[in-house]
Order: sequence, then structure tokens, then C-alpha cells
Amino acid sequence: MSANRTGICHICGDDGPLSYEHIPPRSMGNSKPVKSYRVADIAKKHGTTNVQFTSDIHYHQHQRGVGFQTICRKCNSYLGRHYVKAYTGCISELGALLQEAKNDKDGNGIHLEAHNIPVLAFTKHVISNFCSTTQPGTMLDCRDFLLDCENRNLPDRYRLFMFAVPENGTFVSSGWIQLLLNEEGLKTANLAFIATYPVGFYLYDAESSSAEPDSSRYGCEITSMAKQPWGAEPNFSIDLPYMTISNSIPVPISQNLK
Ligand SMILES: [Zn+2]
Repeated sequence: MSANRTGICHICGDDGPLSYEHIPPRSMGNSKPVKSYRVADIAKKHGTTNVQFTSDIHYHQHQRGVGFQTICRKCNSYLGRHYVKAYTGCISELGALLQEAKNDKDGNGIHLEAHNIPVLAFTKHVISNFCSTTQPGTMLDCRDFLLDCENRNLPDRYRLFMFAVPENGTFVSSGWIQLLLNEEGLKTANLAFIATYPVGFYLYDAESSSAEPDSSRYGCEITSMAKQPWGAEPNFSIDLPYMTISNSIPVPISQNLK
């Protein structure tokens, strides 16, 4: 990966030098060399999408931690100034809750009550991560939402879902993918996901999907957090299902055990 890579910024659409954005943030310990694999390479070699089968597979070495070079320096620094702290604060709290809950082996998820999380900033950080990890130019309609911290107009086509990931040391992301939902006829879902310990997210594009999102499949919907005023820290309680990502696409653990 070249340090001077240029291209179209996935957030503002400008053509120029792209900077390296850590996902998850560097302040969360994501600064050490890691290997990442492409699911397609694993499937070709081993006939499975199970991410545990990584022997003999070509990998990409991220020397500085996992990250993407898809947004410009100006956008990256705006995100860093406004949203990263809200995200890391919330995630470290969630990680602690998850550690406590791990003793409860029968549980299929975690109940979270929070009151000191600036939810709009948190949501904006998550949406910006999806801009970085999805195909170039596909989320330029989030530009105003992301580059004006007080803007609350996340385009209506997006629905955001959150889930808990109990497996430490994991990171999986996808660009936009289309799922065929067989049990519902020829319905399709267009979505992207990012999953890392302790939480992950599905972003659902309702406009290009022919099925309504099924929250038992994608987690707890948090789209309405994007409507909260800047700086507000409302009380909220949510139930996050545990999802496993051992088969590369996050699925609820209870459903997986059927
Ligand atoms: Zn930009």
C-alpha cells in the first residue's frame, strides 16, 4: 500500500491524496501489524468461507493496524476531531459489559443501558467507517451528514443495525453485497457489514433491497440515533444479540446452533 496513494475520497468525492484511516481507531490498540484475508481467496482454496481456514492463503499485511486508504486527509481529520472520542468511549464501556456478561453462557445477547453516550457522534463514526469500507462513490449522499457535525439528515435509504461480537481479536468487513433471501422467494437485500470485537454493524440499503430488513437477522436497529441533536446523551436501552463471524458473515449465535 503506497503512502502517497491518490484517488476519489469516499466521503467528499474530491480527487487527491488519500490518508490512512484505522478501523477500529488506533487509540483502541489497532496499531500493530496484522494479517487480513479475502474471503474470496479462502473459498477458492478450501471450498468454504470459514475464516479459520487461512493456511496457504495469500494475505495482506497491515503494518500499522487494520485500516483503509479511501478518504482524504481533510475528511479524515474532521472525523478524528468530532467523532472518534464518542465512539471509543462507548466501545470500551461495551467491552467491559461484555466481559461481565461472558459468565452468562446461556444468554444469546447483552442488555445495554446507557446514558452518557453522545449518540449522534457515535452513529456518524459508524457511518464514516462504512464509507471507508464500501465501494468508491456509493455513499457520497452521506457527505453533508458526515462533514457537518450537527446535520441530522442521514439519507432515508439507510438502516443501521448493531450486534455484539464476543470473539476477541476478530475483524471482518464487506463492501456492499447482495443477499438472496430464499425463504422469502426471490427477494434481495443489499447490505454491508463491519464486525470487530466487541460490536459490529449492518448497514442496510432499503432503496435497492426488495425485502424489509429482518431485525432478528441483523441485530438491533439504531437508525433513529441519527436524529438525536448534536451533543445529546439520551437514556436508552437496547438488546444486542451475540453474533458469530466464524463463517465470515455475521449470524446470530442462537440461530447458528440450530
Ligand atoms: Zn474527502
